[in-house]
Amino acid sequence: NEETTLELKTSEENGLTKATIIAFQPIKDYKIFKLTAPNRLIIDLYDIRPGSLPPTVMVNFEVVSQVRVGWFSSNPDVTRLVFDLNQKAAYRSYLSEDKKILDLEIFTPKPGEENLVVLDPGHGGNEPGAVGSTGLKEKDVNLDVAKKVKKILTSQNIKTELTREGDNYVDLYERSGMANNFGASVFVSIHMNAHENRGANGTSVFYYCYFNEQKKEEIVRQEKSKELANIVQQNLLNLLGLKDRGVQQANFAVLRTTSMPAVLIEAAFISNYTEENLLAQEYFRQKIAQAIAQGITDFITTQL
Ligand SMILES: [Zn+2]
Repeated sequence: NEETTLELKTSEENGLTKATIIAFQPIKDYKIFKLTAPNRLIIDLYDIRPGSLPPTVMVNFEVVSQVRVGWFSSNPDVTRLVFDLNQKAAYRSYLSEDKKILDLEIFTPKPGEENLVVLDPGHGGNEPGAVGSTGLKEKDVNLDVAKKVKKILTSQNIKTELTREGDNYVDLYERSGMANNFGASVFVSIHMNAHENRGANGTSVFYYCYFNEQKKEEIVRQEKSKELANIVQQNLLNLLGLKDRGVQQANFAVLRTTSMPAVLIEAAFISNYTEENLLAQEYFRQKIAQAIAQGITDFITTQL
């Protein structure tokens, strides 16, 4: 059995660290995420052994101090590259078409290039969304939760915009268009669920995934959307304690036509008596907002 080997090339240009990982077999699967205290960027390469790569590559760049290489696990083989960072950094990654070259750019975001979160309170204006048995309208709950999320994120210095600030109708494509035009890094659509069966209850988060997607950036976006959905769902379950309806795929316009990681949250059922009663209460809407905000910040810290 021929051992898969790896090559690592690093360079620096105007404070931007470039790293090229060359594998002698296609990189079938890999994962990139960040860790803090100390700041690190981790790349796990699946079904690949480190081969003859040295355990430490000193680079002494502005953003990256060194790269550590380890055989993280065997069976399946996982090679882990740890980029030790001198400061918080953002990254971009590109996998070549033959999947043998993974290019990375690691950099400090310039002011104005910080993450922007776009929150999308569903429905509005003459479109109330679902209406509960007491007359509670989904559009009002969505907007209130979105405003609460914005308040929390803004207090943490995360720039946040809403697709609507008031009770007005906004077209679906206008919503995703706003996020795209703003250059948002995260898009979160906020909804409450409804079903003719009033027993239906619980929390779900949706993301878009097209199985035959060919465009590299779009594949990455869909993977990130799934990750965001998982993180937000977990936070909602932890804080709300409602039934776990799972993270699901859906072909919603706002998720399909956005160009950044995007999810649509159905936090609870407005058509369910118990959950409508909860949604009518300020403290519960605040809880939903806290869970969403926590999910977004978790995602930004570890995935962007
Ligand atoms: Zn809705």
